[in-house]
Amino acid sequence: MHDALYYKVTDKSNVQCELCPKNCIIKNNNTGYCRSRKNVEGKLYSLIYGKTTGIALDPIEKKPLYHFHPGEMILSLGTRGCNFGCIFCQNWHISQDPDAYLDAVSPEQIISEALRLHSFGVAYTYNEPFIWYEFVLDTAQLAKKHGLANVLVSNGYVNPEPLEKLLPFIGAMNIDLKSMDDDFYKKICKGTLYPVLETIKRAKDACHVELTNLVIPTLNDSDEHFERLTDWVFDNTGADTPLHFSRYFPCYELNLPPTPKETLQRAYNIARKKLNFVYLGNV
Ligand code: SF4
Repeated sequence: MHDALYYKVTDKSNVQCELCPKNCIIKNNNTGYCRSRKNVEGKLYSLIYGKTTGIALDPIEKKPLYHFHPGEMILSLGTRGCNFGCIFCQNWHISQDPDAYLDAVSPEQIISEALRLHSFGVAYTYNEPFIWYEFVLDTAQLAKKHGLANVLVSNGYVNPEPLEKLLPFIGAMNIDLKSMDDDFYKKICKGTLYPVLETIKRAKDACHVELTNLVIPTLNDSDEHFERLTDWVFDNTGADTPLHFSRYFPCYELNLPPTPKETLQRAYNIARKKLNFVYLGNV
């Protein structure tokens, strides 16, 4: 276990984690919603510091990032757990399985592996990197010292203070903007929309940002939704922010059929009226 950052002791031996907008109140010997932060007698610990479910050398386009070191490979790693509970999670075997296998790794090992493989940086991806905060912060600081770029692939669900502390070390982020509907976030993802929008705006001021919208039949595939999404991206981040519409396939608890390619084309046509860089993924 590793000391956690961003929490306060409330009453008796309860603590409140302040890393993400869930702000979980955690009783002694319990973990928060993400199952990765545990209260032991009034102290909060990360259970996943230096523990990974997988490390691979990926094309940067897989994140997806199309406007940041295009054509280059990046050392990519993730751990387990998530602060969302999306019923369609395409990575549920590491985000939702509390027994997903973990291997030990240190920030120093990650950096030496990245340098050995001639990776231009380190990507924190596969599951939600903000719940891995302490390890990501230590590794990102070390990576930057060695001239490596840091990339986050995130749901954007983090509180402003920890976000601002990490951003100076981050070169690029791909942030999911799953819907413009707060009810979608609440019912389908077990989160909320507003903090995600805040993260996108703050990140955009600090590093390169691309956005991903997973298009799911009947849940977020109306013209009206694509128009609202496009308008928000244009108004708040500008016409040059790359937007990726990604095709959904049945996964985890959701068994709707895969998104028709025509739906993605419709999303593309709407977004391209205002945005300069729109891409289709998983097609
Ligand atoms: S990081 Fe985990 S424990 Fe902390 S508030 Fe978010 S879900 Fe709860």
